[in-house]
Amino acid sequence: MERATLLRSLSCSSLASNRFFTFRSAHGLARSSFSSSSSSSSSSPRNLRHRLNPNISSHSLIRRHWRLFPASSSSSSSSYSLSLRFQKHFSTLSPRAVVSPPSQSSPEFAGVHDEVAEKFGFEKVSEEFIGECKSKAALFRHKKTGAEVMSLSNDDENKVFGIVFRTPPKDSTGIPHILEHSVLCGSRKYPLKEPFVELLKGSLHTFLNAFTYPDRTCYPVASTNTKDFYNLVDVYLDAVFFPKCVEDFQTFQQEGWHYELNNPSEEISYKGVVFNEMKGVYSQPDNILGRTSQQALFPDNTYGVDSGGDPEVIPKLTFEEFKEFHSKYYHPSNARIWFYGDDDPNERLRILSEYLDTFSANSAPRESRIEPQKLFSEPVRIVEKYPAGEGGDLKKKNMVCLNWLLSEKPLDLETELTLGFLDHLLLGTPASPLRKILLESGLGDAIVGGGIEDELLQPQFSIGLKGVSEDDIKKVEELVMATFKKLAEEGFETDAVEASMNTIEFSLKENNTGSFPRGLSLMLRSIGKWIYDLDPFEPLKYEEPLKALKARIAEEGSKAVFSPLIEKYILNNPHRVTVEMQPDPEKASRDEASEKEILRKVKESMTEEDLAELARATEELRQKQETPDPPEALKSVPSLSLQDIPKEPIHIPTEIGDINGVKVLKHDLFTNDVLYSEVVFNLSSVKQELLPLVPLFCQSLLEMGTKDLTFVQLNQLIGRKTGGISVYPLTSSVRGKEDPCSRVIVRGKAMAGRAEDLFNLVNSVLQEVQFTDQQRFKQFVSQSKARMENRLRGSGHGIAAARMDAKLNLAGWISEQMGGVSYLEFLKELEQKVDQDWDGVSSSLEEIRKSLLSRNSCLVNLTADGKNLTNSEKFVSKFLDLLPNRSPIEATTWNARLSSDNEAIVIPTQVNYVGKAANVYETGYQLKGSAYVISKYISNTWLWDRVRVSGGAYGGFCDFDTHSGVFSFLSYRDPNLLKTLDVYDGTGEFLRQLEMDDDALTKAIIGTIGDVDAYQLPDAKGYSSLLRYLLGVSDEERQRRREEILATSLKDFKEFADAIDAVKAKGVVVAVASPDDIDAAHKEHGNFFQIKKAL
Ligand SMILES: [Zn+2]
Repeated sequence: MERATLLRSLSCSSLASNRFFTFRSAHGLARSSFSSSSSSSSSSPRNLRHRLNPNISSHSLIRRHWRLFPASSSSSSSSYSLSLRFQKHFSTLSPRAVVSPPSQSSPEFAGVHDEVAEKFGFEKVSEEFIGECKSKAALFRHKKTGAEVMSLSNDDENKVFGIVFRTPPKDSTGIPHILEHSVLCGSRKYPLKEPFVELLKGSLHTFLNAFTYPDRTCYPVASTNTKDFYNLVDVYLDAVFFPKCVEDFQTFQQEGWHYELNNPSEEISYKGVVFNEMKGVYSQPDNILGRTSQQALFPDNTYGVDSGGDPEVIPKLTFEEFKEFHSKYYHPSNARIWFYGDDDPNERLRILSEYLDTFSANSAPRESRIEPQKLFSEPVRIVEKYPAGEGGDLKKKNMVCLNWLLSEKPLDLETELTLGFLDHLLLGTPASPLRKILLESGLGDAIVGGGIEDELLQPQFSIGLKGVSEDDIKKVEELVMATFKKLAEEGFETDAVEASMNTIEFSLKENNTGSFPRGLSLMLRSIGKWIYDLDPFEPLKYEEPLKALKARIAEEGSKAVFSPLIEKYILNNPHRVTVEMQPDPEKASRDEASEKEILRKVKESMTEEDLAELARATEELRQKQETPDPPEALKSVPSLSLQDIPKEPIHIPTEIGDINGVKVLKHDLFTNDVLYSEVVFNLSSVKQELLPLVPLFCQSLLEMGTKDLTFVQLNQLIGRKTGGISVYPLTSSVRGKEDPCSRVIVRGKAMAGRAEDLFNLVNSVLQEVQFTDQQRFKQFVSQSKARMENRLRGSGHGIAAARMDAKLNLAGWISEQMGGVSYLEFLKELEQKVDQDWDGVSSSLEEIRKSLLSRNSCLVNLTADGKNLTNSEKFVSKFLDLLPNRSPIEATTWNARLSSDNEAIVIPTQVNYVGKAANVYETGYQLKGSAYVISKYISNTWLWDRVRVSGGAYGGFCDFDTHSGVFSFLSYRDPNLLKTLDVYDGTGEFLRQLEMDDDALTKAIIGTIGDVDAYQLPDAKGYSSLLRYLLGVSDEERQRRREEILATSLKDFKEFADAIDAVKAKGVVVAVASPDDIDAAHKEHGNFFQIKKAL
C-alpha cells in the first residue's frame, strides 16, 4: 500500500509530498510513475530496476542493501523511476534545468584556486565545465593518501555529499553490509549509540542513508541548508573513519549476529538486524533468483558471493574479520568522495583535510581491485528451489531467467549508451517487442530479470518469466532466443525507435529525479565508472554520444545500429546462464528446522556456566540497548536551532479558476517548458461491487488500444508525443467528513508545445479505448496477481496496514479492495471469470467508464510557467468540451468494513510483519501539529530501540494518518510477533515517563519540519497542491499546524499518551507471518488470531 507518510518517519528520502498528506492511493497501484508511458510498467520489474528504493531489490540483479528501512513508493515520489533509468544510460541531471531559467552561456561558478587546494593538501587533477549538468567539476587528489574528490559547483541548493569505498567481499558472511550498518553506531567525536538516528530525528536532510553494493559501500547525505549540510558531512566522515564499532563487540552483535538466550532453560536463537533483514530477502523468490543469477554469472570473482550476507553464512563471521575489513578498506586511499551543489568548494576541501591528513597511504587500492570474470565458452544451467506456499497449482509456479555476461571488459560509453537505447526498445514499454511477446505467449504471469544492468564492472542482461508451468520452461527459453533472432533479422519499427528516442530526450530535458536529489543521482552515475579507476567525468557527458547515436540511426537506419549488438552480445555470446527456480512448499520449514538443529547443537555443546554466561551477556546487551544516551553525548551531534527554521510553510502558487465551468487549478512554476497536467474524476458514482475492478480498468485504458489504433500504436504515439501518461485511483479519508475522497487521476506531461497532442491523447485514452481484448486483459490479471503475491512477501507491512485500515474506515476498505489481500482474492476469481464470462467483465469495465467520465465531476490541475499555462488553456477547453455532460452525478452509497477481528495472514517466510492500529479521533483527540513531532519521535526512539535494536527487526515504526485519525504501529522483517505487540502497547507509558531536555525537543521539532518542508521539484509541488485541495487542507491550516509544530512541548507528549492508549485498548492487530510463529502465538495466547492463508 505504501502510504506516503507510512514510512516517512524513517525514510530518508523524505518523499516528495508534504507530510500533511497521508493520502492513500490504491495499493501498489500508486503508479504515479508518472514518467512512464504506461500504467503497468511502473510496477513491473523493469521500471523498478533503478528506482533507488530498497523495494527494487526483489527484481534487480544489483542488490543494494539500505541501512534504513525502505522508503515506500508514493504517488509523488516514484516519478523518478523511468528517468533514473535513463540517467543511468544517458545521464542527465542538469541542476538548473528546472529550478532556474536555462542559460546558454556557461555560468561562472566558483572554483578552487590551486594554492588553496595545495594549502589543504590536495592537487587538482583536472577541471572542466560540464554542460549537461551545468556544473564546474574538478577532480582532486589528496596527496598524502591518494583519496580522490569530485567537487561539482553549480546553483542547485539541494547539496549532496557522498563517500564511497570499494569493499569487495570474499565470502557471503555479509561483512560489507554489517559494517555499513555498524559504522553509523557511534564514533570518536559522536560517542553515542546511533548518531545516524539523531540526524534522522533532528536535521533538515533531504537524503540520509547508506547502502551496500556487491563491490562498494556508499554513504550519501543531502540538505538544502548549508549549516545542516556540513553537520551531516562531519558526522558521516567521523563515522566512516573513526567508528566505535571496531572496538565494540556489542555493536557487531546487534547489527550483525549473536546468540540470544534469555534464560538457560529456553532455546538459543539468532538475533541481529542484518541477519533478519537478509532472512527477509531470502524469503522472496525474486530476490533468490537475482542472487542466484548474479552468482552463477560470476563464479570466479567477488560477485560470486553475497555482499549482503546469506543468513546461513552470516553466523560464521568473526569480530576479528570484521575489524580487519574496516581497517583495510575504510581508508582514504580506498575512498572516492563527492561534493555537489551551491556551497563554497574551498570549504569542502578544508573539511576533508581535517580527516584525511591524519592518515598515510595504504595498500587497499590494490587489494580492493575488482578482477573481471572471464567469459565462458559454454552456456550454463542452474536449478534452484525457492520457498513457496502450499496454495495454488505448484506446477505453474516455476521461474526461468536467461542471463548474459556481455563483456569481459567495461564497455565504452558509446556502446553502453547504444545498449541502453536497445534495452528501452526491447523492454521499455508494454508495447516493446520482447516484453510484449513474452507476456502474450501465455507461458508465464510476469517478467523477471531487469534487462541491461551496467552498474558493476561488467555489464549483464537478464530476462525471463515467472508463473511458468514445468512443461513450458524450455518453451520460454526458445521464445526468448527466437525473439532476439527475429529482431536481429528484421530490426525495429521506425515508430518504436522514434518513440524511444523522444522518451529518452524528454527524460533528459526534464531531469526529474523525484524526491531523489539530482546530485546523488549524478554521483551514482559517475561512481559507476570511477570506482573501477575509470574517468569520473565521462559518464556525466551524454550529449555528444547521444547526438552521434541519433545521427547514426538517421544515416544507417536502426537495424544497422542494433542488429550487430544483438548478435554479438546475445545470440553469439556463450556466457549465458539459464536459471530455473522450482517452488518448494517445504523449503521454509526445512530451513527453519535446520537452523533450530544448529542452535540445538550449539546449546548442547555448552556447559552450564557457558549458558549462564550467555544469558548474562544477552541481558547485558539488552540493558545497553535500552539505556538512553546521556544528554552530553547527545549534545555532541550538531543541530540547527529553531531560529534557523522559516516560520511559514513553503508556498506553492495556486490559482483556482474555471474553464467551461470546470474547476482548474493552475501553478505558475518554472518547469523548463514542460507542461504537467492531472485530470481528476470522482469515483463515488461507481458501484461498490465494481471497485476492485478499477485498477485493471485504469491499466486497460492505457494498454488496450482504440478502434483505430492497436495498443502498440497508441503506446508509440504516447511515447513520440509526450513524456508519458498514467492513470491510477487515489483514495483517502477526509478529516471531519464521513465520505472519503476517492478519485481516478490521469497524469500526463509533455513539452508545452505539444499540449494539444497531450490532451488529444488523454481524450483518446479515456473515451476511445475499447475493452474488447480478452487475451490482453487476462494478462493484466495474471501480472497483477504475480505483483500482489510479491508484495505480500516483500512488503507485508503495507499489506498489514491496508488490512487494518480496511477494518477501521471506508477509505481503507476501498484501498484494500484495490490493493490488499482482498484484491488478491478478487484477482484469483477474476482469472476464471475472464474465461467464463468475458462479456460480463467487458461490460463492467464499460460501466465504470460511464459512471466516471463526466465533465461535472472533473477537475484539472496544471503546472507550468505562466506563458505555457495560458497557451494550454484552449486545448484544455477543447478536451473538456468532448467529455460527456451528465448532471447531477448521483453518488452511490458505499458502506463497508472488514470485520474487526485480529488477523494473521500466513505466508511462507522466515520473518514477520506485525501491525496494530486504532482510530485516535474516536477517543476525542483533536489534531494538533505536535502529533507529527510525537509520532516521528516514537518511531525514532521507542520503536527503533525496542523493535529494531533489541528486537532484531529491520524496522519498526508508527504512522499517524491525520485524515482518518488512524494511528498504526508496524514492524518490518521482524523475528518476533507477540513481543512486538507488547512494545506497541508500552508506548503510552513510554510517553508518560518521558524526560526530554530542550535540545532533544528542538531536534525533534526540526526533524519534523524537515519532513514537512521536503524538497520538491515543480511537478511534485503542483501535485501536492492538488492533493491538499482534494483533501481540504487550506494554507491557513498549514500555517496553524506549523506554528503548533514549532511550539510543541513536553506536555504535548504526555497528553498524547492518552490518545495512544486507545491503540493498546481497542486496536486491531494484523500480522503477516510464518505458520510456525502464528502457531507459537496461539499456544501462548489462545486463539488470538483469525487465520487467513494468502499464498
Ligand atoms: Zn541493511
